[in-house]
Amino acid sequence: MSHEKKSIGETGEKNRVEPGTLYLVATPIGNLSDLSDRAKKVLSEVDFVAAEDTRNTGKLLSCFGIKKELISYFEHNKRERGEIILDRVAAGEAAALVTDAGMPAISDPGEDIVRLAAERGIRVSIVPGPCAAVSALALSALSTGRFAFEGFLSTARHERNERLAEVKNERRTLIFYEAPHKLKNTLRDLSDLFGSDRKIALCRELTKINEEIVRTTLGDAVSLYESKEPRGEYVLIVEGAAEAGIEKDGRSSDAGALSSLSPAEHVAHYTDAGMTRMDAVKAAAKDRGMSKSAFYDLLQKERDEA
Ligand code: SAM
Repeated sequence: MSHEKKSIGETGEKNRVEPGTLYLVATPIGNLSDLSDRAKKVLSEVDFVAAEDTRNTGKLLSCFGIKKELISYFEHNKRERGEIILDRVAAGEAAALVTDAGMPAISDPGEDIVRLAAERGIRVSIVPGPCAAVSALALSALSTGRFAFEGFLSTARHERNERLAEVKNERRTLIFYEAPHKLKNTLRDLSDLFGSDRKIALCRELTKINEEIVRTTLGDAVSLYESKEPRGEYVLIVEGAAEAGIEKDGRSSDAGALSSLSPAEHVAHYTDAGMTRMDAVKAAAKDRGMSKSAFYDLLQKERDEA
């Protein structure tokens, strides 16, 4: 068929490795098969690869028979190394930036080199792929419509709790990266501050043999890890505050107060919190202990009287 014969140029795909470009290349977060064909092509064709850990990346490249000059670029050398990498790219070389796993620049030093490249007018392109945060969010069974990425919490308790207090009333779903040795403390702090009923999905070892998703509440997660040692890599997906304000039977915990609003204001309360209009109508009807159709009649009456 003719459309299958279209050349790469005609389909608008960006497949040639361009000189003078820094490519952010996403690498697997645990499953080698997740390295995309395009990632392999770019890693094979660039002049050099900047890597957070050159040994890890060397192993990854050798699995695919790729031999390439590797330059280390990590938290403690990112300033001077970033300039050196970008000097070479500015002089016309093509470079790839990879981190230990996942999407460079997301809780990785890649963020700084992208900023520097933007300041210097150097082209940065992307080879998208695995990202632990987005993978966990998709699996969480929590609301994905609006979310806030919080990365790693500080190891210092005071700072950690300050940050948690800041996001306690955040209505969007929250995403945290967490190291296993800090997990128990973080769960305890989350439960104390957000309340033990708030939902959480603990997403562990994604794409690996021991992949596990535990969908529970903060209180139950604390209990679970009292008898179990956390192992492996975790992403924590925590329900947003607005959803937490809705009781298990679907009624808002503020149902009484909300019922004193006009029907339209009641619906707006939920749509402002991110619900679709249909879900908002359903929730408002439930708060008032009436059927959806009876509530629609009320809305209509309010409109007629306006
Ligand atoms: N830039 C990477 C990304 O966005 O995918 C994340 C890098 S960050 C330094 C590493 C953190 O990502 C880990 O501490 C863990 O929270 C999360 N992570 C990475 N791989 C994971 C996996 N396979 N399963 C669960 N979490 C993972």
